[in-house]
Amino acid sequence: MKRILRATLMLICLTGLVNPYAAQSVKRPPNIVVILCDDLGYGDIGSFGNPTIRTPHLDRMAAEGQRWTSFYVADSVCTPSRSALLTGRLPIRTGMFSDTRRVLFPDSAGGLPQSEITIAELLKTRGYATAAIGKWHLGFQPEYLPMKQGFDSYFGIPYSNDMDATFRFSTRDEYVNFMKNPKIAYWNVPLMRNEKTVERPADQTTITKRYTDEAIKFISANKNRPFFLYLAHSMPHMPLFRSKEFEGRSSRGLYGDVIEELDTNVGRVLETLRQLKLDRNTLVIFTSDNGPWALFDEQGGSAGLLRGAKGGTYEGGMREPTIIWQPGTIKPGVVTGIGSTLDLMPTFSKLAGVEAPKDRVLDGYDLSGVLHGKSSSPRKTMFYWRGSKLYAVRHGAFKAHFITKSEYGSDPEVVHNTPVLYNLDVDPSEKFDVAPQHPEVIAEIRRIAEAHKKAIPPIENQLDKRVPSTSGK
Ligand code: MG
Repeated sequence: MKRILRATLMLICLTGLVNPYAAQSVKRPPNIVVILCDDLGYGDIGSFGNPTIRTPHLDRMAAEGQRWTSFYVADSVCTPSRSALLTGRLPIRTGMFSDTRRVLFPDSAGGLPQSEITIAELLKTRGYATAAIGKWHLGFQPEYLPMKQGFDSYFGIPYSNDMDATFRFSTRDEYVNFMKNPKIAYWNVPLMRNEKTVERPADQTTITKRYTDEAIKFISANKNRPFFLYLAHSMPHMPLFRSKEFEGRSSRGLYGDVIEELDTNVGRVLETLRQLKLDRNTLVIFTSDNGPWALFDEQGGSAGLLRGAKGGTYEGGMREPTIIWQPGTIKPGVVTGIGSTLDLMPTFSKLAGVEAPKDRVLDGYDLSGVLHGKSSSPRKTMFYWRGSKLYAVRHGAFKAHFITKSEYGSDPEVVHNTPVLYNLDVDPSEKFDVAPQHPEVIAEIRRIAEAHKKAIPPIENQLDKRVPSTSGK
């Protein structure tokens, strides 16, 4: 009996040496899972008001956790938005912006500079296992891939699922037709494992399920140590694909099928956490990188009651349906205060007990007090950048548009000498200009905007750089 006890103690000590969190005396920080959708609209899930798309797993997650109704990304398109999520810094500070090429393309030579510190790099200093699964879109040259940015492993597509098109078109209608009637071979997108291509073109019909399989494998393999999982689904970005099992399931059509498959797979991740008894020690955030892509009619998503869409600085482009969940820790409810993906870095660093970078400006706030139901959101202001220009600023309930422009049209920018002012608490759809009634609000927001712009030093733009052999394409 004594021998067995001694052997057991020895085993515990040895495990403790390899993995300090296996020993009970070391308090284990929470696991963190970020589930990021691509181009999901504010109005595309049941708990955010969609009348036909069925999302029971997300709805349960929202009921058990917090549903954030004013949660923003830092930019209205993929690359800059993702760079801000992972660094806690506005794209204008990291070089991940452009006025011409708004995202990275397969011939791009730039990427998220290695000098930037990602959430993965930060959490690794606290002993976290890290994995990136899904769409990356922060640089495809070898020095910019996920494993160079703090991730132990990677499985996914390095850029958007509509890039590397193999078809030719001469009119807009022809282009839209290819996008709305997709076949795998139309896009020669690589699927990568770590730093190697393992499938090309990626079979996108099974990709949502396969990303989730990988996520479950990663969670199971790391159940005895803290982990950070960045699960960036490539759906529902056009072209839309779903597996056989989900074909024709939704009365919302193809787009609804895709969202219902995403919902089922979010459910699989949460169920895995429950089964492994990790749910009470795992913070899960569900959100999207930008608003719905409105170019494709019914195959694009919906921003619900919000105005605008992906690519623009009205609410529909940058306000995302966001759910934060950790049973027993997150105080359930609806949070109407302002939050942002920029706040994830400071929030995670607080929860993990690791100091956020001090040698650079972070644009985020620690939201842990809100998550625990102890305080209201410390974020009062949101900046709406488009490339190198500050288009709008929200401060409290009011949002002032200094510049407006359609999401993707060839219309010129309209610079407003007196900004257009909306009260988002009263008028979330941005319909009623209240500038004449509130000159003092405009003056205050103008001061905030000018001070903010002045404090941003010039930086090299990463998005306009191209690899030499394809320059001029
Ligand atoms: Mg996107």
